[in-house]
Amino acid sequence: MTSNRRILLAERPVEMFTESSFRIVELPVPEPDDGEAVVQVEYLSLDPTMRGWARDEPSYLPPVQLGEVMRGGAAGHVVASNNAAYPVGASVMGLLGWQEYAVVGGTTGALANVLPDGIDLVDALSLYGSTGVTAYFGVTDIGQAQAGETLVVSGAAGGVGSIAGQIGKILGCRVVGIAGGKEKCRWVVDELGFDDCIDYKAGNLGAALGEACPEGIDVYFDNVGGDILDAALEHMNDFGRIVACGMISGYCEAERPPGPRNIFRIVTKRLRMQGFIVIDFLPRFAEAAMQLGVWAAEGKIKNRVHVVDGFLSAPTAINMLFTGENTGKLVVKV
Ligand code: NAP
Repeated sequence: MTSNRRILLAERPVEMFTESSFRIVELPVPEPDDGEAVVQVEYLSLDPTMRGWARDEPSYLPPVQLGEVMRGGAAGHVVASNNAAYPVGASVMGLLGWQEYAVVGGTTGALANVLPDGIDLVDALSLYGSTGVTAYFGVTDIGQAQAGETLVVSGAAGGVGSIAGQIGKILGCRVVGIAGGKEKCRWVVDELGFDDCIDYKAGNLGAALGEACPEGIDVYFDNVGGDILDAALEHMNDFGRIVACGMISGYCEAERPPGPRNIFRIVTKRLRMQGFIVIDFLPRFAEAAMQLGVWAAEGKIKNRVHVVDGFLSAPTAINMLFTGENTGKLVVKV
């Protein structure tokens, strides 16, 4: 290839991303300067948090500026190098952004890690990347899930939720998923081994949670926030833990949604609700990846990846996260 297509943030979305949110530019493939290497990007990771990065407000990372390459996790191979740490042919993963070629290393290149030999790029972006690692530390460190407890996971058929629930099963919990639609719930129970799954789109979530969790909820792994968090609060056991992993129901709202009505349950039930960002666990990524790898090799964890074809499909595919069209971790094959 002789050119490098890049997708820039052109306009801040009000609700979901639209056609005018992005602009495509075509530049020559970059040459590496001293200390730099060039990576040909092969897969883009699509993540709900990218909607937050497009907002002009302070968060755990600065907003993507208008005219900048859309920030995003990605993986590929080194095709040119002036840096021994990134040899030609090495597999690399990092915040490479929405572009076909990315410069890494040097003083201005993207931050990227060379992957161990034999690790598949898609596995690196899903099970061994922020998706799997978030699920791992969310269930173990933040949720402190114990054998015999009831763990409820929302977004259960998505990337993080599907892994979180399977970890709960490995630890000996009763695991109940919450997902949108019968087919997702069927997959979560029949294929992933959750004990039950509630279709929140069918209505009556509160009653369904009571039925599926006759002994109450000890750990609620929240990917969604909003009404689903509210329903879970009502069923929490004394001294339960809420893992505030994400609140996707509000990410595309122009106005901040109202707070949960049942928040007072935190007091009466002495709950602990803790937020976290997976990068807090960077020093322990290897620990999580090794354990996830062992469980996958033993057949205890299934990693489903939803692959959308074509670099230019990224701007529309990202909205699948907000409409619920993905099952498992969403990636784009460039
Ligand atoms: P995902 O679960 O694969 O995809 C998002 C899913 O959210 C959709 O498939 C959809 O499933 C569900 N959803 C969308 N809008 C919803 C709504 N209004 N109400 C209920 N469900 C809705 O995405 P992911 O990458 O694994 O991320 C899941 C959550 O983890 C997100 O909140 C994300 O921000 C968070 N996260 C946090 C960290 C961290 O460090 N804290 C790291 C990674 C991800 P249904 O069809 O079931 O509705």
